Amino acid sequence: MTRATGTDLVYLLAIIGFILALKALSSPRGARLGNRLGALGMLVAVAWTFSLPNVYGSTRNLVLIVVAVVIGAVIGVPAARLVKMTAMPQMVAIFNGVGGGAAALVSITEFLAFPDKGAIALYKIGEVLFGVVVGSVSFSGSAVAFAKLQELMTGRPITYPAQQAINGLIGVAVLALVGAVVGTASVPLLAVVLVLSLVLGAVFVLPIGGADTPVLISLLNSFTGLAVAASGFTLDSNLLIVAGTLVGASGMLLTRMMSAAMGRSLPNILFSAFGSVITAGTTEGTEGRSVKSGTPEDIGVLLAYARKVAIVPGYGLAVAQAQHTARELADALADRGVEVYYAIHPVAGRMPGHMNVLLAEANVPYDQLKEMDEANPEMPTTDVALVVGANDTVNPAANNTPGSPIYGMPIVHADEAQNIIFLKRSMRPGFAGIDNELLYDPKTTMLFGDAKDSLTKLVAAVKAA
Ligand code: NDP
Repeated sequence: MTRATGTDLVYLLAIIGFILALKALSSPRGARLGNRLGALGMLVAVAWTFSLPNVYGSTRNLVLIVVAVVIGAVIGVPAARLVKMTAMPQMVAIFNGVGGGAAALVSITEFLAFPDKGAIALYKIGEVLFGVVVGSVSFSGSAVAFAKLQELMTGRPITYPAQQAINGLIGVAVLALVGAVVGTASVPLLAVVLVLSLVLGAVFVLPIGGADTPVLISLLNSFTGLAVAASGFTLDSNLLIVAGTLVGASGMLLTRMMSAAMGRSLPNILFSAFGSVITAGTTEGTEGRSVKSGTPEDIGVLLAYARKVAIVPGYGLAVAQAQHTARELADALADRGVEVYYAIHPVAGRMPGHMNVLLAEANVPYDQLKEMDEANPEMPTTDVALVVGANDTVNPAANNTPGSPIYGMPIVHADEAQNIIFLKRSMRPGFAGIDNELLYDPKTTMLFGDAKDSLTKLVAAVKAA
């Protein structure tokens, strides 16, 4: 067996690992295994790559690679270990951005290394240009997304007159220059393409509101995958082609699923500058309307004597880091024979799978987790829907108020439960900035306070009931 065949076989094994990883990652039950399979595939691929003659045979290459791996590990490992769950979107943004930047650099390096630029096949220049443009857009776009989420700049959409027309012009200029580079193989023109692509990535992201950026990051992640696949073609690496395509396809699917779960089209998310106008203030619009608020003791009794309780988690659960206390409450109720389940909205929180990740961290049993479509038919027979830091994802305006920013978004039907309890700190709206009629519903009782404190009090009240 030649080394080339060995490389193909080992890379095929790694690719099988990546595909099985994706399959396992599609359910909370298999997610840990999926992560391990993906990491194993990557380890095998990287280890084999070190055995290739152009790596181990060249001290210079070997030193450069080892130095890069050490720098990456020194920055990446503590960052991944220390990051807070609520800061995960910006972490993904920055990791994704460097991936896109790396793909662009690989494409540029390969282009510069061609000895006779006049004789490069057209398709090769095409691959290089694709990698440079898409990788650079992903790099600068992700950098701006990171800055917004990390609050290094305003998270609100940044808009100015004729913004989309100007962005369109930059896009057309990039395409025209790409055509020119294909015709001339000119290095200075490639440099201009690089700079303009970086500008395009940044201006494309500016009008997108901070809270819409997780969808954007998923899209940029897909771009990075495509740029990596393009560098795979340039380097004749099947592994990079397949791995890049998997990232590209799964990123695109995730983007579509998130847009659908928010009830908005992708163009609306990318181009409508959602969130630039605040449509509701703190407690404005609530004057003169009565809201029922309860004590932890009363609500504890209601929960303790219920037959079926749904916990509906949202962004506030993540902010309060209340997942462990939510589980304690569920356990205390289950000990009393109450049937408890968690009703999970696909875009509850601020990133895809946010609630699943938090609840898995608290070791919530998987059979208690119900996705929205599975939970909704249960709501009419549920005695208490305990809404923990969720707001938009249970707001009936999504069903019955045409013109509302969230109209059309599927929601968890907490309104159909016999009693609704909201754990939140105030009457302030959620991400969409709109009032929630459900807070004023006669079936609703508010328990004001930080979700973790309130849940701690409820655990005590249930145990005492
Ligand atoms: P919301 O953003 O609608 O509401 C969260 C609520 O949590 C707020 O009303 C807030 O009220 C409350 N809260 C905040 N901190 C605390 C705390 N410490 N203790 C108790 N309550 C707290 O959350 P949802 O999860 O219902 O909805 C998610 C929204 O984010 C949707 O509009 C979705 O479209 C959007 N989104 C989601 C993405 C995703 O991938 N998951 C991506 C992009 C956007 P108060 O201040 O009164 O406490």
